[in-house]
Amino acid sequence: MISEHASPLAALGGIDAGGQNLHVAELAAALVRHGHQVEVYTRRDDPRTPECVRADGYDVVHVPAGPAVALHKDELFGYMRPFGRWVSRRWSGHAGPPDLIHAHFWMSGMAAIEATARHRVPTVLTYHALGVVKRRYQRADDTSPPLRCAVETQLGNAVDRVIAQCRDEVAELAAMGVPLDGVEVVPSGVNTYRFTPDGPAAPRTPGVHRVVTVGRLVPRKGYDDLIRAVHGLGEVELVIVGGPPEGAAADPEGQRLADLARRLGISDRVRLVGPIAPADMPAWYRSADVVACAPWYEPFGLTPLEAMACGVPVVTYAVGGLQDTVLDGVTGRHVPPGDVAGLTQALRDLLTDAPLRRRYGRAALDRARTHYSWPATAAHMATVYAGLLHARNPQEKVAS
Ligand code: UDP
Repeated sequence: MISEHASPLAALGGIDAGGQNLHVAELAAALVRHGHQVEVYTRRDDPRTPECVRADGYDVVHVPAGPAVALHKDELFGYMRPFGRWVSRRWSGHAGPPDLIHAHFWMSGMAAIEATARHRVPTVLTYHALGVVKRRYQRADDTSPPLRCAVETQLGNAVDRVIAQCRDEVAELAAMGVPLDGVEVVPSGVNTYRFTPDGPAAPRTPGVHRVVTVGRLVPRKGYDDLIRAVHGLGEVELVIVGGPPEGAAADPEGQRLADLARRLGISDRVRLVGPIAPADMPAWYRSADVVACAPWYEPFGLTPLEAMACGVPVVTYAVGGLQDTVLDGVTGRHVPPGDVAGLTQALRDLLTDAPLRRRYGRAALDRARTHYSWPATAAHMATVYAGLLHARNPQEKVAS
């Protein structure tokens, strides 16, 4: 695998560390348990990091491409060719190339194309996020390299298989000019051993309902709308989990949200708890009556699945992958994006009806375990890999 900016070893919850880091870590580990050997190539961003680190049965290889310092992912474009050439040289050594390469994010796709110029290796690409979608919502605030959208279309035509994470992404890919016969939908998974309904819950404020929302403190996560929705509700507190290591209070976006809560007169009901270690996340989900997601857009969205695996119903804007994972009227509620009154009403419906919450919560747990476990996701992915290897070498028997 190549995951140029999102190391599986990185802490989660920082500005550039989120779902992709976790996805790569979980997929790599699940593929190992499925009987595969996995190496993950990621950019070296600290001179003290060893070239190769063993993690959960797979190797993380730190590639020297650009300065060995932390850089924002939008600054990495120019380093992708050297990244790919370094990987290619490594494959020219005695170990040889892998059977297959799976690139995560478009820039990893560029590195993969460079690496496979000298080695005939089938290439799979998961975009994780699409430039056209980001530009549509972030407009002038989108700092992606200007060539991103064009390169993403080229990559979709160049690789052997594109993995879309949800149906909404398939529609976007078609509009971009990516041939759909090379697209396969494989949703992300959730760790159903770690995220369970049983176990400790974070302490609650007595007599007050709790809505939890989780993610990086960036505007597109739509916390403003949740703060406004909670303003329209009675004895309800909103807990926003996530933010940079320095904490939410030190973060400009955290301060902006705290200001909004103050202006609305609900500072006592909006808590920005800052970043929480992944191991402690289940306790925060379990402490919620409802988990809410109100993003402008969401390529996949791991947090609702994590909530569901903890048996918690989810109220969500109907965007991106959230339309597939959350079933409206079964595991939670869909609300049209931007509809704050609808969000308020959906939260009110659930918060005032404990049996409904229990019913949705049970169905959510069932759905997470049945459809989104990592062993199932890895097995699905391995089938895609096996199909590609078989197409290359029809004589050879390929294990899936
Ligand atoms: N997360 C965490 N601690 C935090 C905030 C988030 O461990 O304080 C994790 C969260 O549990 C989830 C991931 O970060 O696994 C966020 O993934 P998602 O796909 O929801 O959003 P992204 O950050 O990729 O946009």
